[in-house]
Amino acid sequence: MKIGFIGTGIMGRPMALNLIKAGHELYTWGRRFDTVEPLLVAGALGKGTPAEVAASADISISMVANTADVEQVVLGERGLMHGAKPGSVIVDMSTIAPSAARRIADELAGRGIHMLDAPVSGGQAGAVEGSLSIMVGGDAEVFARAKPLFDVLGRHIVHVGGHGAGQVVKACNQIVASLTMEGVAEAILLARNNGVDPARMREALLGGYAYSKILEVHGQRMLEGNYKAGFKVKLHHKDMGIVMDNAHENRTPLPGAEVVARQIAALMDAGEAELDSAALMLALERLAG
Ligand code: NAP
Repeated sequence: MKIGFIGTGIMGRPMALNLIKAGHELYTWGRRFDTVEPLLVAGALGKGTPAEVAASADISISMVANTADVEQVVLGERGLMHGAKPGSVIVDMSTIAPSAARRIADELAGRGIHMLDAPVSGGQAGAVEGSLSIMVGGDAEVFARAKPLFDVLGRHIVHVGGHGAGQVVKACNQIVASLTMEGVAEAILLARNNGVDPARMREALLGGYAYSKILEVHGQRMLEGNYKAGFKVKLHHKDMGIVMDNAHENRTPLPGAEVVARQIAALMDAGEAELDSAALMLALERLAG
């Protein structure tokens, strides 16, 4: 397929490389040459604007940071929307607000362009290995057209409902992932304060019901004090904002998520936006003095 791809950061770059490796023809654009260069070296074709990217592609993918970035790249003056042919598809794989995903889908529908919201879980490793979990919102028929691309990028792909449903499910994912991460940090602190080796504690927990990928991966990072991103604190902060705003809109009490959102906000206040979100451990250590 002819694919447009915008957003070649920690996640987007390996995803785009996997699509090239799978034999697809990839068109790209970036605001900094060094972010797109590895794709050009791998065989992608560079374009001057997102609109030019979309004009060359059957399906265009965006994997940028937040709602404002998606709006700029898709709807902006030289955005994908201005080059996309009627009947073509724009797939946003960034994590943004469900309400924004619905708004963008409506705007594109007015021009005969299809939209899917398809956020992901699985981190940088999942992007590199092509083993992401992908939660997709939009029309079933459009989902079926994009599915061969999702099969290259991920291993667990679920069509979860109409426009915005993918982003709702991603918000649910962030509740479970964040509370688990906070739980792992708290378990490490409690073990340490009891004079029990937290590495042994983690080893014991990995064999029982408390097992999780987060205990395995982020637990190890916390033990090592290794907070090189990964999934940056500033993106986690953005995601908790999406979760809490949506909870307020829907009058849904989320007391646990609220606590984690506060801990993430404390990291932002401490100037730690670029660290990995496993730095929740740091915020807790600070609380503990
Ligand atoms: P990242 O490393 O910061 O990459 C974002 C990329 O988007 C960069 O290449 C950036 O370009 C580009 N970009 C952002 N705004 C743009 C704009 N307005 N115009 C053009 N390019 C723009 O972020 P990431 O970690 O790959 O995350 C991408 C998305 O996936 C986010 O929504 C995040 O929440 C989600 N996500 C991340 C992870 C993870 O583990 N990292 C896991 C699941 C989901 P510049 O380099 O020029 O800034």
